[in-house]
Formats: sequence, C-alpha cells, structure tokens
Amino acid sequence: MNRKIVILGTGGTIAGTAASSSDHTGYTAAQVGIAQLVGAVPALAGGPCDLVTEQVAQIDSKDMSFSVWARLAERVSHFLAQPEVQGIVVTHGTDTLEETAWLLHALLVPAKPVVLTCAMRPATALAPDGPQNLLDAVAVAAHPGARGVLAVCAGVIHGAPDVQKVHTYRLDAFSSGDAGPVGYVEEGRLRLMRNWPEAPVHKALAAIKKIVTQQDGSGWPRVDIVMNYAGAGASVVQALVASGVQGLVVAATGNGTLHQDLEAALLQAQAAGVRVVRATRCLEGRVLPRAGDLLADSQGLSPVKARVALMLELMANGS
Ligand code: ASP
Repeated sequence: MNRKIVILGTGGTIAGTAASSSDHTGYTAAQVGIAQLVGAVPALAGGPCDLVTEQVAQIDSKDMSFSVWARLAERVSHFLAQPEVQGIVVTHGTDTLEETAWLLHALLVPAKPVVLTCAMRPATALAPDGPQNLLDAVAVAAHPGARGVLAVCAGVIHGAPDVQKVHTYRLDAFSSGDAGPVGYVEEGRLRLMRNWPEAPVHKALAAIKKIVTQQDGSGWPRVDIVMNYAGAGASVVQALVASGVQGLVVAATGNGTLHQDLEAALLQAQAAGVRVVRATRCLEGRVLPRAGDLLADSQGLSPVKARVALMLELMANGS
C-alpha cells in the first residue's frame, strides 16, 4: 500500500491571477484549480508518497464562511481516517489562515500532519512564492512523526496555536511570536526547533464536530470581537447584546486592561448571560491573569483564535 499525501485546495492568493506579472496586489484570488497548482511544481512528482488532490472550495479567504469550514473539516477528517494517508496539505489564503488552522487543530486533534500553506503573490507573478511553499508543505506532511495542524510559509513551520499573519505584503508574512517557529524547511529537509504543537483536549468533541460539519453553518453560536481603545465605551457592546450575541471576545490593551466604561458594559453583558473572554490586541505576549479577575482570559490565544475557541465551547455547552 503506497503512502498518500492529500492536497486540498480552498483558493487564496496562491491560486490567484493578475493581468500583469508585476502586479502583486491587483489580482483576483482563487482562480487556479488545485490540480493545476500541483502540476506546476514538477519537483512534487516522484516523491516517496502518492499525491491526491481535491478542490474543497475556491474562495478568497477574507470571505471564509462557516459552510466552507464545515466542508473542509469534514474532508480533512475523512482523509485523516484513511490508514494510507500520511498527511494532508491545505492550500489557503493568508488572511484567515490562522483561524482555520486553530479550528482544525482544536476540532480534529490530528495525530498526523495537516499542513496549511499559502502565498503572498499570485500564481501569475514574475516570481511566485506559492510553488516553493507547496513543495515545503508536502515535505512537512511527508515527515515521519509530524503531527498536528501546522502552517508553512517562506520556509518556516508554525504551529496552529501560535501562528499569526503579521505582515501585509512581505513573503515571510507569518510569525509564531514568543513561542518561535516549530522549525524550518531547508532544501526539502526539516530543521526542527521544538515539539509538534499540542491540541487542547475538549470534552464533547464528537458533539462539537457534528455541529461544525453541518453544511449550512446554522449551529454556530454568534461570537463577535470588540476592541479596547482610547475613548472606548459601552455602545458597541450594548448593540451586540441587543442583537442577540452569545459570546464576546474583547481585544484588550496591554496585558488585559480595559477602559472602565467598556469593562462595565462587558460585565453587564456577562451578567446577562453572554460569555466574555479577554484577549490582547498586542501581537506578542498574553493576558496576565490576576486573582479576582471578573472576565476570563484567552489563555494566550489571539482575539480571532479566542473567538473560535469560544464558539467551540458554546457548542459543547449546547448553546
Ligand atoms: N485575500 C487573500 C486570501 O486570504 C490573501 C492571500 O491569500 O494572501 O485569500
């Protein structure tokens, strides 16, 4: 039985095209099919594993939706269960890659590698970065012992818990912050810096999976993100509560501080039954919990990942 690497396409800039090869911003994402992207990298042929491709979606990841997440989670789960599948690669836009990575990691807790990869330049660029990223991602997926959800971009391997897009234009657009990368891919070989990422073990994972993979996305609780800033007040929180939000993540300042007016509104929301979690708007570091805190902290997750975690938790609690 030949080992297989499955490559799932979801769109993004890696599959984007522009009218001019020098245009790196005025392109349309999600135009080229996954089979064609793989075919454009001859070095992928003749590797130790057979390659299987499947187009799961074809979107710009800024438009990521619960229904695409549902389909992707279902397909990743389906292929992970096949004994001959060694690992999975997912091509994805950079904009929401970290959210998808965290969702798949927390939901599927994969014992095999699931490697998200991307590009900052469209496929039609003079020097596109997608082909090398794809080649590197397959090298990670084929690596014996690799596990968990990972992101590979510009030769760097990031773990799902830490990866964050930190640059709007640079090819090396992602960072793992304080944690540092899991490793690097150099000429197809891996140089590992630390262990593969651990996933939180969620109670009621099977129930959550059932809700997530409902194709219409109807079972997802509504969780929104608000931010602390100079002059922040109660009005946004009050409007969200009035509109029926079930959870709120606040991107607090610094180590978790909130404007007193925003904090009062959040405490009121919490008293009314809305789940509130405090993350930080700082790119590095985390909320530092203190005895007597009235609002939960995000346990080191960024605001967008804390939102995904809270949605999963609300699903587990049946709301
Ligand atoms: N907007 C694009 C996307 O997220 C950006 C990218 O892929 O770099 O699909």
